[in-house]
Amino acid sequence: MTPPFNRVALLGIGLIGSSLARAMRQQKLTGEITGYARSEATRAKALEIGLVDRILPTAAEAVKDADLVILCSPVGTYGALAQEIAPALKPGAILTDVGSVKAAVVKDVLPHVPSGVNFIPGHPIAGTEQSGPESGFAELFTNRWCIITPLPDSDPKAVERLADFWRCCGSNVDVMTPEHHDLVLAITSHLPHLIAYNIVSTAADLEEVTSSEVIKYSAGGFRDFTRIAASDPTMWRDVFLNNKDAVLEMLGRFSEDLSALQRAIRWGDGDTLFDVFTRSRQIRRSIIAAGQDTAAPDFGRGAPKPQ
Ligand code: NAP
Repeated sequence: MTPPFNRVALLGIGLIGSSLARAMRQQKLTGEITGYARSEATRAKALEIGLVDRILPTAAEAVKDADLVILCSPVGTYGALAQEIAPALKPGAILTDVGSVKAAVVKDVLPHVPSGVNFIPGHPIAGTEQSGPESGFAELFTNRWCIITPLPDSDPKAVERLADFWRCCGSNVDVMTPEHHDLVLAITSHLPHLIAYNIVSTAADLEEVTSSEVIKYSAGGFRDFTRIAASDPTMWRDVFLNNKDAVLEMLGRFSEDLSALQRAIRWGDGDTLFDVFTRSRQIRRSIIAAGQDTAAPDFGRGAPKPQ
């Protein structure tokens, strides 16, 4: 079978970039993978563990003659990268990204895209709290959704080619506008991360409860927030700086609902608490029914090993 892309360039080879490299190799989606990352250490590691066929000293050199270029670095870096690679992009190439916000990416990247290059933003809804070239795995995208946000003048054939690429990596594909993407992800991803970062920081600041007690008794719920709050600080700083409006909108609604729960607790309104908790339990069951998580108790962790 002829691979769908002769050459794919990855700019950024961390969790997402290295998982894509592994999935592309497993599914034989390209003849060659070229790569570029910010540090010499990551570039050397990517070559050493065979994620890329060639590593280049600059982003512009990495995208030369590539049919598909994927921005896989934090979203705050996309504008400068797009400006640098623009003159080197091959006419007819598809330029895409994996960034967790979309409207800001369009604003930063689109002005640099030369005519004849198809810029089609994307976002795989798949990840872990790990970072770096060694953290990726080929199955990361399996049965996870990838959202593609084509622009009004995107070539439908290029959009379908990119959608097929993600399907070959194991994803289901949805198409929506960048603005709608940002609203959906503000509630399903960005706000949960903000809440997790906040609860962990609140616990860290407590004085009446010692930090050793917080760690010792974390199985009561806290530890599940700490997994999310261990996510990469650079990536998440950039997400909040670049999806400000949608996050503030969802945060406003969240604060109102939190105040309602606070009031219910203060006034002993058990019916309200019971109704909210029952509805939440139903949503958890829908996520399991949709194959987006395991039904195993305690996320399938099992009993902890004796110390
Ligand atoms: P990561 O593991 O921290 O990797 C980031 C990569 O980008 C590293 O290779 C890093 O190189 C490189 N990089 C940083 N600044 C750069 C620059 N100026 N030029 C070129 N390369 C640069 O991050 P990740 O989790 O893969 O996230 C990458 C993107 O995927 C982000 O835009 C994020 O929003 C999106 N995303 C993440 C997840 C998730 O759960 N993690 C899920 C979906 C989408 P060095 O190692 O040399 O610093």
